[in-house]
Amino acid sequence: MPGVTDVHVHIQPFEMLKPEVLEGMKRERGNFDMFLRISRDPHAFLAHLDEVGVERACLINYVAPEVMGYTDAVNAYVVGYAKANRERLVPFGSVHPRHTSEPEKAIRRLIHEDGIGGFKIHPPHQLFEPNAYVGGSMPALRTLYEEAEDGRVPVMIHTGTSVFPGARARFGNPLAVDDVAVDFPNLRIIMAHGGRPFWCEEAFFLVRRHRNVYMDISSIPPKRLLHYFPRLQEIADKTLFGSDWPGPGVPGIAANLRGFRALRISAAAKRKILYENAAKVFSR
Ligand SMILES: [Zn+2]
Repeated sequence: MPGVTDVHVHIQPFEMLKPEVLEGMKRERGNFDMFLRISRDPHAFLAHLDEVGVERACLINYVAPEVMGYTDAVNAYVVGYAKANRERLVPFGSVHPRHTSEPEKAIRRLIHEDGIGGFKIHPPHQLFEPNAYVGGSMPALRTLYEEAEDGRVPVMIHTGTSVFPGARARFGNPLAVDDVAVDFPNLRIIMAHGGRPFWCEEAFFLVRRHRNVYMDISSIPPKRLLHYFPRLQEIADKTLFGSDWPGPGVPGIAANLRGFRALRISAAAKRKILYENAAKVFSR
């Protein structure tokens, strides 16, 4: 039996953040020095995972120069970081359709040479709709989905609001993911955060409607999870555990795991969400 997978951890090159974003993070998080140390040393992170009882973590990175300051240097960073233990560290990278000169080449290199484990799309930070390729206006986005589908690499799409300065919440509506699921039926799609806090019904609908759509529960306080998803057990086959650590308001991976394990849902549903679904989504 494989261990727990946390599909949503932000191990990122924090030094690249825009000064105002970085200041906000430092102010909010008492143990910022620990995050910095972990972001520079994969072995420190692996030791942390051992401590909290997590086998494998997805390291979520994306290119968002306008809002966050992240350039495509995040890809080399995360691919290099994950080399410390590729079984346990799953690098998620990104190709921004508006900021990449040769998107097809970049996407293929990430999949076929760098062994990227997944792509992240963050509409409120990257400032486009997940279905912006419809009508032909953003061909690089279509290429990204096509190549990821062919290469059997999952795509995680942020759904729900974001509180970082400059983020635009309207891009977080999960309904735009419907087009992607229809147009790329074999693409494995993970909707991050299940559309929280006010698009959870949309997310629930999409997860049930589309065979290829999953969601993660990251950044939702476990105590609130059944409030947002009272029928969580019905989508236990399509739901993935994630913490969003060290994102805003996340106490820690261990605390989220404890909170999740205490929920009043069946043991079978918990097993799927913590272990079994991730094994399916990340199989090649
Ligand atoms: Zn996140």
